[in-house]
Parts: sequence; structure tokens; C-alpha cells
Amino acid sequence: MAADTDPSTDLPVYVIGGGPGGLAVAAALRERGVRTVVLERSEAVAASWRRHYRRLRLHTTRRRSALPGLKIPRSAGRWVAREDVVRYLEAYAEHHALEIVTGVEVTRIERAPGGAGWLLHATGGRQLTGRGVVVATGYNHTPKLPDWPGREAYEGELLHAGDYRDARPYAGKDVLVVGVGNTGAEIAVDLVEGGAARVRLAVRTVPHIVRRSTLGWPAQSSGILIRRLPARLVDPLAALQARIALPDLTSKGLPRPDTGLLSRAREGAIPVQDVGLVDAVRKGRVEPVAAVESFEEDKVVLADGTRIAPDAVIAATGYRRALEGLVGDLDILDARGRPRVHGPRTTPTAPGLHFTGFTNPISGMLRELSRDARRIAKALSR
Ligand SMILES: Cc1cc2nc3c(=O)[nH]c(=O)nc-3n(C[C@H](O)[C@H](O)[C@H](O)COP(=O)(O)OP(=O)(O)OC[C@H]3O[C@@H](n4cnc5c(N)ncnc54)[C@H](O)[C@@H]3O)c2cc1C
Repeated sequence: MAADTDPSTDLPVYVIGGGPGGLAVAAALRERGVRTVVLERSEAVAASWRRHYRRLRLHTTRRRSALPGLKIPRSAGRWVAREDVVRYLEAYAEHHALEIVTGVEVTRIERAPGGAGWLLHATGGRQLTGRGVVVATGYNHTPKLPDWPGREAYEGELLHAGDYRDARPYAGKDVLVVGVGNTGAEIAVDLVEGGAARVRLAVRTVPHIVRRSTLGWPAQSSGILIRRLPARLVDPLAALQARIALPDLTSKGLPRPDTGLLSRAREGAIPVQDVGLVDAVRKGRVEPVAAVESFEEDKVVLADGTRIAPDAVIAATGYRRALEGLVGDLDILDARGRPRVHGPRTTPTAPGLHFTGFTNPISGMLRELSRDARRIAKALSR
């Protein structure tokens, strides 16, 4: 059927999610003259960034974090603060005059009857048909709390890092942070600076730590340079660089990792950007301890058998993509619940169904979201 007689070409493309990924795709599609509607479940764009902990700053540079078609203002500085990211995303939606419908949660996507496009089921019994769909619901979608034995009966305060805002409620308290990714590392430092009496950090896998920038050279730029090189080349060089740049914290309970930096990043664990953790561990203000094994009524049991009784436990244990409800029937997710295709690529059984933001690249997620936005727009406007 010729494109101009195909009824599906009159339909808009729906973008699910009004975070940076969704907004960038919508802007790129609009630039190509494709009618695009963003569906966002919360009341405003940038919902994730509104919820993040207060001290958060981008660890990617301002220039390399901007989305297509609008720079982040110079006044935001090199490492953009969380509230400036929110302001930028609001300005971005306005600048590109994006069509955004808020308060609409898409619950399921299926092929439209007759095969022309996609049928979206959304809250309030809405059914929407689009010629294409971009799923941009976020890598950090649903907080993940490990199923620790005894967790349900634990009487102490236990929260996910996604619910942590700032250190004020923990001043003078003994806090255990679980997990040493970027979030756990930063929350531990925030607690120390915010006056917590004691901060312990439960470590299962020792992370790679890099300085956010060295002599003005951002870690993100190294990430961009190395990401396509062979790991066997990069891993030893990264280990050497870490020895030169960072003190040995083995005696403080944080040995150097025994797997390579790029090998680890390719498994999805990007390095921790140091925003004060190294210094805090060196000074004994953050105490690394063994991983959490289980809970008793009033105690946390660590993998080395130690039992501790902190006032609060903050689990920086990551998120799930939670795509099963949305696209679980389409045979498009891998065993770990991630889409098998990404960016401009689609599967033959699901043409016009794109995913953005479901990788964790060492080169910076916002940068990759921007690149994918342009590629997806090109694919969908063909
Ligand atoms: C703490 C933290 C710090 C980060 N720092 C950086 C950094 O410095 N540099 C960098 O490049 N990257 C960083 N990232 C990674 C990444 O850039 C951000 O997570 C970014 O927000 C991802 O954008 P997104 O649009 O894919 O997802 P999100 O920003 O999470 O947006 C998804 C949107 O979809 C909406 N939504 C979800 N489900 C539905 C549904 N079913 N229907 C309708 N709407 C829905 C949500 O409400 C949300 O608004 C960071 C991530 C985290 C968690």
C-alpha cells in the first residue's frame, strides 16, 4: 500500500515517558515533521529528576548532557545540579513546543487490529492508536529491594534509595547504606556531610572508582574514548591509572577490584564517580562492611556473620525496568527483562516499536539518549 493511502500514516507516534529520553525523541520526531504525542504518567515532565536526592549533580558534563536542539545554559556550571536539570527539561519541552499529555499511564501495548500501528491501553480506560511507539519509561523505573530473609519482620527503618531526599532525618543517627554504585556512594557521603553519627556502607562487589575529572579531563571523555576498545587493552591501563590516581583503601575495607573496569562496564556496572567517597573512607567517616545477608527482628546480619543494629538502612540496590506489563506479551524482552532491541533497531514482529534508555553506557546516558533520539526519529519517519 502506498504511504499516502495507508491510514496508519495519519496517526501520531506515541512516546511513553516524559523524561529526557522521551522528550529528546519527541523533539527529534517533531523536527522531521512527524506528529508526536508524549504520554507521561505523572503531572509534569522530568518526574524522575524531581524525585532524586537533593545533592545530586550530573556527573557528565553540561555540554555532553544536553539533548538535541537546546544547550544547557552556561549558568548551570560544568556539573549541572538536579534542580537545573528539571528546569532544563521543562524549558526543553517548551522550546520544542512538544505535545505532552500528563497524568496518563500506559499499561499495555499491542498490535492494532488489522496490523496498522499500535494500540495503547492507558489509565482511565483510554485506548490510543499510534503509527509507532517509543518506550521511554526509564532504566530506573521501579525500586528493587532484594528478597533478604527476615526483611518483612525487620523492625528497624528500611528504605530504598529512591525514597531518600537528604540527610536531615539522619542527623546524629547510625545509618547503614547497602550497595556501592553511584547512588549508594553519594548518599553515604551526603549522610557524613549532613551530620549522621555513623555511616557504614555494605559492599558485595568492590566497585571501580574513578575521579569525576582529572586535571580538567572528565571521566566521561575517557568513557567515550574507551567504550569501543577491547577490554583486554583497557582493563590493565585503567587499573594502572587507578593506582596512580587513587589511594589504596584495602586497610579501610575497600580493596581494589579484581575484575577489569571495561569488562565490568560491559556487564552493566559502570564505575563509581568519586564525589567524596574516597576521602570519606580514607578518613574512616564511611566504614565499608560486608554485604547484607539477612535481617533479624532488630538486627542486620552481614555476610561475615557480624550482626549490627543501625538506626536506619538505606538500600541503594538498584531498579527494575518493569517492562513486563507493558510489552511482556510481545516476545521482545530478554531473560533479564530488558528489550532485545534498542534505539533505531526493531524486531521483524514488532515494526515501529522502539525502546530508548534501556542501556547503561559508560559514555553517559544522556549523551546516548540524544544520539538514539535522532536515530529513532530517522527510522520512524521513513
Ligand atoms: C541518580 C541518577 C543520576 C544520574 N546521573 C546521570 C548523569 O550524570 N549523566 C547521565 O548521562 N545520566 C545520568 N543518569 C542516567 C539517566 O540519564 C537518567 O536516569 C535519565 O533520567 C534517563 O532518562 P529516561 O527518560 O530514560 O528515564 P526517566 O528520566 O526515568 O523518565 C521516564 C519517564 O517515564 C514516565 N513513565 C514511566 N512509566 C510510564 C508509563 N507506563 N506511562 C507513562 N509514563 C511513564 C516516568 O514518570 C518518567 O517521567 C542518572 C540516573 C540516576 C538514577
